[in-house]
Amino acid sequence: MSVNTSREVTSKSDATTMLKIRSFINGEFVEPSNGQWLDNYDPAVGEVFSQVADSPREDVDRAVAAASLASREWSRLAIEGRSNWLNKIADGIQERSAELAAAECRDSGKPLKLARDFEIPRAAQNFRFFASLIAGSSTSAHDSPIALNITLAQPWGVGGTISPWNLPLYLFTWKVAPALAAGNCVVAKPSEVTPYTASLLGEICQSVGLPPGVLNIVQGSGGTTGQALVEHPGIRAVSFTGGTATGAKIAAATAPLFKKVSLELGGKNPNIIFADCDFEKMLATTFRSSFQNQGQICLCGSRILVERSIYERFRDAFVSLTERARVGDPLDESSDLGAVVSRPHQQKILAAIERAKQEGGRVLTGGTAVNVPGRCANGWFVAPTIIENLAQSCSTNQQEIFGPVVTLQPFDNEPEALSLANDVPYGLSATVWTSDVNRALRVAEQVQTGVVWVNGWLVRDLRTPFGGMKESGVGREGGLDSLEFWTQKKNICLCRN
Ligand code: NAD
Repeated sequence: MSVNTSREVTSKSDATTMLKIRSFINGEFVEPSNGQWLDNYDPAVGEVFSQVADSPREDVDRAVAAASLASREWSRLAIEGRSNWLNKIADGIQERSAELAAAECRDSGKPLKLARDFEIPRAAQNFRFFASLIAGSSTSAHDSPIALNITLAQPWGVGGTISPWNLPLYLFTWKVAPALAAGNCVVAKPSEVTPYTASLLGEICQSVGLPPGVLNIVQGSGGTTGQALVEHPGIRAVSFTGGTATGAKIAAATAPLFKKVSLELGGKNPNIIFADCDFEKMLATTFRSSFQNQGQICLCGSRILVERSIYERFRDAFVSLTERARVGDPLDESSDLGAVVSRPHQQKILAAIERAKQEGGRVLTGGTAVNVPGRCANGWFVAPTIIENLAQSCSTNQQEIFGPVVTLQPFDNEPEALSLANDVPYGLSATVWTSDVNRALRVAEQVQTGVVWVNGWLVRDLRTPFGGMKESGVGREGGLDSLEFWTQKKNICLCRN
């Protein structure tokens, strides 16, 4: 059955209504063909507020068939044509930005102001950025007395994208926009935990008149819909962002099919603080890099390494700053932290804190769930938590928690700081705080991460490569790296007589 909106509100009982979030296939919103739906929660109130399609393999097949058909025209569009479509989608996001921010907040529990001021504007920017990047792209040629070689970058046809729940529309569009810009049609799966804004993006595509099949959004769980997507023979390139364990499954499923795969995975990022840093700037930024979005950002600096001479000063100031933070209703402008994304995730974070205590950790602040009175009394909140006195080798310092939990470790000198920073299986990002530019460069060059910030955090230029080393991923996204991922090179050799 097809309907022209993602959201049919049906009566669940006399007292309540239930939002239904469908897949968007070939320009239409469709029910899951197996009739299966998943409950979708508002984590701030701890209640189901919608149901999302759990699309089976047959629905993924239909989406791939639609994308494959649409790609014949889309891949032949002049660059200006694709660029215009991407800008129209960006306009649509901006026009509905208040609604998108409210939906993101409800789906994920994040503070409304974070979605409104940071994430939804970035989703529009993702489309605008790649719209202008392709407008300036060129084809390379190599000339010689015997032949002229022309190298084309051709789209794959149909691309598959899979994204996580922590920055739902921001990361969904970070994959979809370059794939479309490069001339692919796309089958995209958002997280089943936060499906709402991707569905609204489908409505935006419909309202701006994007040709059917160019962007298809299949809603559903990882094991069902996601697995069908990565295994589909019609999808030659898959871009994934999510946990390292899921990345390993996707690598295993796609390797025998020889697909091109990009994996953006988890992190256990060091925040390395030297005594000669700008203390106040470092302190304020470290609060954000620890607890923004309840610590549920892959780039959060969850291991804070502090030069011993300022360890106690930093610890006391950081604990005091954190104790002044407000955990509260995500709709309240004064809330610094909202809810974590789900009840199982809240339990996982609290269990990690208990394990840290068993490992000898001293909880300096936080360490518990938070009861927010009123509307959010049954919501899933966790206090920002700071732990010290843990060994480098313990699980708390080795495994990603992905919540508002950081550890503090003192170090005596630069080699020790580097040794602690690098002694984890992950390698996504690092932050270095120092006023010595030579030391900044030395440390940045030796730290084993794909991204390093010096005297800042989460400062992004979309032209730069983004991605992880070691178990944090394979490949880079951003700028020309994204366009390169979404195309394959073909060399045409024109031989001279
Ligand atoms: P997850 O791995 O559980 O899920 C991510 C996506 O993969 C979801 O859409 C899910 O449905 C899908 N999925 C799950 N199993 C699958 C399977 N077998 N086949 C195909 N798809 C499957 O991750 P999450 O809990 O949604 O997100 C949190 C993780 O994402 C954290 O580890 C975080 O560090 C990581 N992350 C990384 C980056 C980055 O850029 N490196 C950015 C954001 C989040």
